[in-house]
Amino acid sequence: MPTKRYSAFAIAREALRHHAGWARAWGNPVPKSHYDVIVVGGGGHGLATAYYLGRTFGIGNVAVLEKGWLGGGNTGRNTTIIRSNYLQDPSAAIYEKARTLYETLSQELNMNVMFSPRGVMMLAQTEHELRGYIRTAQANALQGVETKMIPPERVRQLCPILNTDGPRYPVLGALWQPRAGTARHDAVAWGYARGCSGMGIDILQNCEVTAIRQKGGQVTGVETSRGAITCKKLAIVVAGHSGVLARMAGFRLPVESVALQAMVSEPVKPCMNVVVMANTVHGYMSQSDKGEMVIGGGADGFNNYTQRGSFHHIEETVRALCETFPIISRLKMLRQWGGIVDMTGDRSPIISKTPLGGCFVNCGWGTGGFKSIPGSGWAMAQMIARGEPGPLAAEFGLERFREGRFVDESVAAGVAH
Ligand SMILES: Cc1cc2nc3c(=O)[nH]c(=O)nc-3n(C[C@H](O)[C@H](O)[C@H](O)COP(=O)(O)OP(=O)(O)OC[C@H]3O[C@@H](n4cnc5c(N)ncnc54)[C@H](O)[C@@H]3O)c2cc1C
Repeated sequence: MPTKRYSAFAIAREALRHHAGWARAWGNPVPKSHYDVIVVGGGGHGLATAYYLGRTFGIGNVAVLEKGWLGGGNTGRNTTIIRSNYLQDPSAAIYEKARTLYETLSQELNMNVMFSPRGVMMLAQTEHELRGYIRTAQANALQGVETKMIPPERVRQLCPILNTDGPRYPVLGALWQPRAGTARHDAVAWGYARGCSGMGIDILQNCEVTAIRQKGGQVTGVETSRGAITCKKLAIVVAGHSGVLARMAGFRLPVESVALQAMVSEPVKPCMNVVVMANTVHGYMSQSDKGEMVIGGGADGFNNYTQRGSFHHIEETVRALCETFPIISRLKMLRQWGGIVDMTGDRSPIISKTPLGGCFVNCGWGTGGFKSIPGSGWAMAQMIARGEPGPLAAEFGLERFREGRFVDESVAAGVAH
């Protein structure tokens, strides 16, 4: 479906004709019987994969199959933090690629994704954490990722509402990434979907994959709630449901699915223009453009698919936030929700070929995959197009779990986002 460019001129033109000329942002096609590539999962990673398949690798006969609505999974449920201050080289490479793509994503997609590089600080509140962040800052310097350690005085300057003196843990410093920040999560999904649709890629909502067809160890297609579709290549990009799809394909994945939750307060006047993560007490917060305080909660300690999260995490998160930002203690909470995240043992993603020929998987982003959407989609598209992982994906293959070659990011991604 060809899309018209969004521009100031288009807004003026439509204002003059009562906004009657806006087209649908993406089409609502009937499924074809065959595609070169089927991407299962209409979250950010699936949509970005399809987008770069068409845009960068020239593969346009592609469909994205989504069982619900676009971005209705974790992509529309996260707290939108974007950063790339990871410890291990392969992680820093893919997250920095993603962060760099975010810088110009609004122009690339002709959709305002509201990328706001306001800066992210990760508080060091124990000696151990301080040593860990100094190590990360040094690793980042070698990786070409711009971060630095800042002292408590600078933390106070950047975020005056922060209580740096306790009551349990004083702030000893922070790892500061000035070009990290946030973006509007729905807009990222919508922008990629619109870009895909403009290239003739089919976005099929309400289309649940119920079985994966194969012959002689090679994928041949899928069965869906809208009928059977054949394909040459299949990409499984379904986050918390990766294990379910892998079972359909006949293999197992080393991922666990748990609910992770978040909440927002009532809107207040601007009081905080950075993102703060306090991982020792486990609370993190930013302020949305609407004024709501966006608060990240904890992950359940048991596997489940509830998209809700346990009640005790609400209390623990609020306690951590009140201790870190005392001025929010009288705010009312407006909404709370959960998403099903896919956790690997080393807290790093899987971007990999699978035991089934022609079937690729992208999952395991756990609590922190919003920030990686552009880089992950790019690396996944490259792997599908070439049949082999490129440099960005090479270290994230499934074989690392068999070979004990982990990309250990449990400190960077175990609790924080
Ligand atoms: C509360 C919360 C806070 C978070 N905060 C952050 C953060 O601040 N920063 C950050 O970087 N990350 C964060 N994350 C993680 C981030 O949201 C995810 O890693 C990321 O959105 C995963 O995107 P995805 O496209 O892989 O998955 P999803 O967006 O979940 O998309 C997968 C899609 O697959 C579909 N699907 C499943 N099964 C089928 C099927 N059988 N057939 C067809 N479709 C199917 C689902 O409906 C879903 O829409 C957070 C997550 C949560 C839950």
